[in-house]
Amino acid sequence: MLFGAHVSAAGGISKAIDRVQEIRGNAVQVFTQSPRMWRPTEHAPEELERFRARRRQARVKHVSCHALYLVNLASRDRTIRRQSFAALHATLDTARGIDADAVVFHVGSHLGYGFREAVKRVAPMLRDLLELTTDDLWLCMENTAGAGGTIGRGIDELEALCDAVGGHPRLGVCIDSCHWWASGVDVSDPDALDTAVAELDAGLGLERLRCLHVNDSKTPLGSNRDRHDYVGRGLIGDGLATFLSHPAFAQLPALVETWESADDLERMRALRRRGRRRRAALSRSR
Ligand SMILES: [Zn+2]
Ligand SMILES: [Zn+2]
Repeated sequence: MLFGAHVSAAGGISKAIDRVQEIRGNAVQVFTQSPRMWRPTEHAPEELERFRARRRQARVKHVSCHALYLVNLASRDRTIRRQSFAALHATLDTARGIDADAVVFHVGSHLGYGFREAVKRVAPMLRDLLELTTDDLWLCMENTAGAGGTIGRGIDELEALCDAVGGHPRLGVCIDSCHWWASGVDVSDPDALDTAVAELDAGLGLERLRCLHVNDSKTPLGSNRDRHDYVGRGLIGDGLATFLSHPAFAQLPALVETWESADDLERMRALRRRGRRRRAALSRSR
């Protein structure tokens, strides 16, 4: 497993590598522009080049770019849809410029008008965006906590979108532990987690799972509210050991989005070790 964090790209996107190296991570996630503004950031070619060079030096094995929070491919408002498409296009362009492995995004929300109709809006744009992926760069939909018509509250919705674009080979998923928990998946329980992973494998195929967001939750299981907490300090707490040690996740990048220091990455590593020991004990006793 790779361990890393979402870090700031302030002062130039290549600074992200410096920042993740400081906290001893070997995977990183960045915003390629301000997540709360539509206006894209222009990156100087030298910055993109420095990013690639620094990444090699720092031995960072995975790079994700997180798209803006404003994106809503399912909006009924044509302007919002157009802006969302343009923002994802710009994110994919920068992602290619820094040799990123994934662009992670939230599909959006149908705001109550219904998922079936939303698929008809989302699919054509998704198909066009997937044209901008490469053999190395995937476009990954993130699961959501499930509030207010958000798309991706269940694996079935992500599966339906995948089907709607003909199962494009570079359409991936990113699973966020806090969002799964909030949407009702008890990631701290080995059997519940096994069931959810089996559903993911049956519906989308585990090869589409490209990265993990590892966040604890301030709100209870099934609360449908997205409130991150520091790893091991929230309501999932020590239960994140179960999530981090799932065998299906062994080769994935685990990116923490809510953190303070290198200690947060250390806690993730420690939780994974603890989870593995528990799993070994459990399989011996069964
Ligand atoms: Zn996330
Ligand atoms: Zn979240």
